[in-house]
Amino acid sequence: MKVDSHLKRCKNCGKWTDGKLDHCNHCDHELDVEYKKEVQKRMDLGDPKLPIIQVRDHDPLWIKIAKRPIQVAQLILYAIMAFLVYLTTTFAH
Ligand SMILES: [Zn+2]
Repeated sequence: MKVDSHLKRCKNCGKWTDGKLDHCNHCDHELDVEYKKEVQKRMDLGDPKLPIIQVRDHDPLWIKIAKRPIQVAQLILYAIMAFLVYLTTTFAH
Protein backbone atom coordinates (compact mmCIF):
# COMPACT_ATOMS: atom_id res chain seq x y z
CA MET A 1 0.00 0.00 0.00
CA LYS A 2 1.43 3.32 -1.07
CA VAL A 3 1.01 5.95 1.59
CA ASP A 4 0.77 9.63 0.77
CA SER A 5 3.12 11.75 2.85
CA HIS A 6 0.31 13.96 4.11
CA LEU A 7 -1.57 11.00 5.52
CA LYS A 8 -1.22 10.05 9.17
CA ARG A 9 -2.28 6.96 11.00
CA CYS A 10 -4.77 7.60 13.76
CA LYS A 11 -3.52 6.04 17.00
CA ASN A 12 -7.07 5.51 18.20
CA CYS A 13 -8.78 3.70 15.30
CA GLY A 14 -5.70 2.81 13.20
CA LYS A 15 -7.12 4.26 9.99
CA TRP A 16 -5.26 6.65 7.70
CA THR A 17 -6.51 10.19 7.91
CA ASP A 18 -5.58 13.58 6.51
CA GLY A 19 -2.50 14.74 8.43
CA LYS A 20 -3.37 18.39 7.93
CA LEU A 21 -6.37 17.95 10.17
CA ASP A 22 -6.17 18.24 13.95
CA HIS A 23 -8.62 15.39 14.48
CA CYS A 24 -9.12 12.01 12.83
CA ASN A 25 -11.96 12.20 10.34
CA HIS A 26 -13.04 8.64 11.23
CA CYS A 27 -13.31 8.77 15.02
CA ASP A 28 -12.50 12.44 15.87
CA HIS A 29 -9.47 11.40 17.94
CA GLU A 30 -6.97 14.23 18.35
CA LEU A 31 -3.87 13.69 16.21
CA ASP A 32 -0.27 14.54 17.09
CA VAL A 33 -0.90 14.87 20.82
CA GLU A 34 2.64 13.65 21.56
CA TYR A 35 4.10 16.08 19.06
CA LYS A 36 2.23 19.00 20.62
CA LYS A 37 3.36 17.93 24.10
CA GLU A 38 6.96 17.83 22.89
CA VAL A 39 6.66 21.32 21.41
CA GLN A 40 5.14 22.57 24.67
CA LYS A 41 7.96 20.92 26.66
CA ARG A 42 10.60 22.61 24.52
CA MET A 43 8.91 25.97 24.94
CA ASP A 44 8.87 25.47 28.72
CA LEU A 45 12.56 24.52 28.76
CA GLY A 46 13.54 27.34 26.43
CA ASP A 47 11.97 29.91 28.71
CA PRO A 48 13.49 29.30 32.16
CA LYS A 49 11.93 31.50 34.81
CA LEU A 50 15.19 32.17 36.61
CA PRO A 51 15.68 35.36 38.56
CA ILE A 52 18.35 37.78 37.43
CA ILE A 53 19.75 40.32 39.87
CA GLN A 54 18.13 43.65 39.24
CA VAL A 55 20.03 46.90 39.61
CA ARG A 56 17.67 49.48 41.02
CA ASP A 57 18.05 53.20 40.54
CA HIS A 58 18.06 53.94 44.27
CA ASP A 59 20.87 51.45 45.03
CA PRO A 60 24.12 53.05 46.25
CA LEU A 61 26.82 53.34 43.61
CA TRP A 62 29.02 50.61 45.12
CA ILE A 63 26.11 48.13 44.99
CA LYS A 64 25.52 48.99 41.33
CA ILE A 65 29.23 48.42 40.62
CA ALA A 66 29.19 45.14 42.62
CA LYS A 67 26.01 43.87 40.97
CA ARG A 68 27.04 44.55 37.39
CA PRO A 69 29.59 41.67 37.01
CA ILE A 70 27.19 39.28 38.80
CA GLN A 71 24.45 40.27 36.36
CA VAL A 72 26.73 39.72 33.36
CA ALA A 73 27.90 36.35 34.76
CA GLN A 74 24.28 35.28 35.29
CA LEU A 75 23.31 36.23 31.75
CA ILE A 76 26.27 34.28 30.33
CA LEU A 77 25.41 31.28 32.53
CA TYR A 78 21.76 31.34 31.41
CA ALA A 79 22.81 31.66 27.78
CA ILE A 80 25.02 28.56 28.16
CA MET A 81 22.17 26.67 29.89
CA ALA A 82 19.70 27.65 27.17
CA PHE A 83 22.19 26.49 24.55
CA LEU A 84 22.66 23.13 26.30
CA VAL A 85 18.88 22.67 26.53
CA TYR A 86 18.67 23.46 22.83
CA LEU A 87 21.37 20.89 22.04
CA THR A 88 19.81 18.12 24.14
CA THR A 89 16.34 18.65 22.69
CA THR A 90 17.66 18.88 19.12
CA PHE A 91 19.77 15.73 19.22
CA ALA A 92 17.54 13.68 21.55
CA HIS A 93 15.82 11.97 18.60
ZN1 LIG B 1 -9.38 7.64 14.28
